[in-house]
Amino acid sequence: MTLQFDPQDIDRFKADIRGIPGYPSGEELPIRAMVFEPDALARLPGLLALAGVTPDKQLSVVMDRTPMAREGKELKPLVLDVLKSAGWQPEVIWLEPDSTGQVHTDFSQINCVKARLQPNSAVLSIGSGTVTDIAKHACHVYQQEQQISSLPFVVYQTANSVSAYTSNMAPTFVDGVKRTLPSRYPDVLVCDLKTLRDAPQAMTVAGVGDLLAAFGSYADWWLAHRLGMDSTYSEFAQTLMGPLDEIFLENAEGIKAGTLESTSVLAKLIALAGIAMSLSHATAPLSGYEHVISHVLDLIAERTPRPLAQHGTQVALATLLTTNAYQIFFDEFEPAEINLERCYPTEAQMRARIDEAFRSLDPSGRVAAECWSDYKIKLESWHAHRADFEEALRDWPAIRDRLRTLAKPPDVTARILNAISSPARFEDLTPAPAEAEVEFAFKNAPLIRHRFTLGDMFVFLQWDQEALWTQASKNL
Ligand SMILES: [Zn+2]
Repeated sequence: MTLQFDPQDIDRFKADIRGIPGYPSGEELPIRAMVFEPDALARLPGLLALAGVTPDKQLSVVMDRTPMAREGKELKPLVLDVLKSAGWQPEVIWLEPDSTGQVHTDFSQINCVKARLQPNSAVLSIGSGTVTDIAKHACHVYQQEQQISSLPFVVYQTANSVSAYTSNMAPTFVDGVKRTLPSRYPDVLVCDLKTLRDAPQAMTVAGVGDLLAAFGSYADWWLAHRLGMDSTYSEFAQTLMGPLDEIFLENAEGIKAGTLESTSVLAKLIALAGIAMSLSHATAPLSGYEHVISHVLDLIAERTPRPLAQHGTQVALATLLTTNAYQIFFDEFEPAEINLERCYPTEAQMRARIDEAFRSLDPSGRVAAECWSDYKIKLESWHAHRADFEEALRDWPAIRDRLRTLAKPPDVTARILNAISSPARFEDLTPAPAEAEVEFAFKNAPLIRHRFTLGDMFVFLQWDQEALWTQASKNL
């Protein structure tokens, strides 16, 4: 199956996506090229030039110390050699791990990179999601502070691991809680297929997993829209991405075997996902209840502290939970049985619930305060849109039918994970969260963000969370 919207041919791609309903009118995608080729590495000097990296620029290369291989050779020295042969004198900015042994996207890292930039800098990031996000956001903040209109930024993607590379947003830890900050696009995306093929298999399956979020998030986003809780909804992302279930089932063998063709399809889907979110001006199309669950698990890991599990795989497992929860909701929700008055908790009640939930994680109360500052927005909106909810209750059969078309049953996710030999249970994650931690994340995820998802329905409807968890986590 060929992708309907192929980002490789950039001019045609830009023209074609402008015709998709929901494309933001008047907006131009500033990415100049996205290259998906077996030997894109050899073209790097030309691609830098295309991004506006002129000889007067100081080229900074941002990377961490993770060893990477391409066709049996060390990748990072290889890339530096290509640059030097072309006459560049790259200055490497090394990202050092924090106390967990990992590099995380936070302001201590972003500020380290930013401090090394100059008005004539150009930046090349070589790495996966975290390295890319740090470099991207350092460029963005530097440009804003110095009021520089263009600082060439090229992304050399080293794994098909996460949909971060082409977006103009940066998921960043702020006070321990992950927040999505407005950032910038890259000028050029370099997907050297041999590099991506030779990345660890665990990262590739995570890249698939991050996209499987769509099987719950499209429904979450539409539900929020239908209840008056999100004004950004459009079908742009779904149209751009195409039928993900079919594409993945068709490419699963190739992804598992590491063919260049399937490596390319996955890299393109990942690129499309970043663009889909950016042009929707929201992460919501590919980030629903499953991502907030994943964020709570990351929050627990940060606090423990222990390394974060592979993001996309954690997300895929959370998708199994949330899409299962959708099926339970479809089967069991009876609008006639609800007590409407009880669906509208007060600020004091929810503030107390959040304080109580997060006290054990952070006795200082900072995490709870950060969660409340965002949650409060959602609670106010929920109260303000009570009429929308009442109307939706009357129209529930039609809403359920629509949601059923958007939320894929959990066995679709399970089949794809199985076909690519992905971990299929939380206990298979590295490091694995305790079952009680996954349960905590499932139950409390709605409390950390203003994003409205199915999880919030369970909170506001005062659904029996114990029973729901038991049912939703069956077989996991
Ligand atoms: Zn994600």
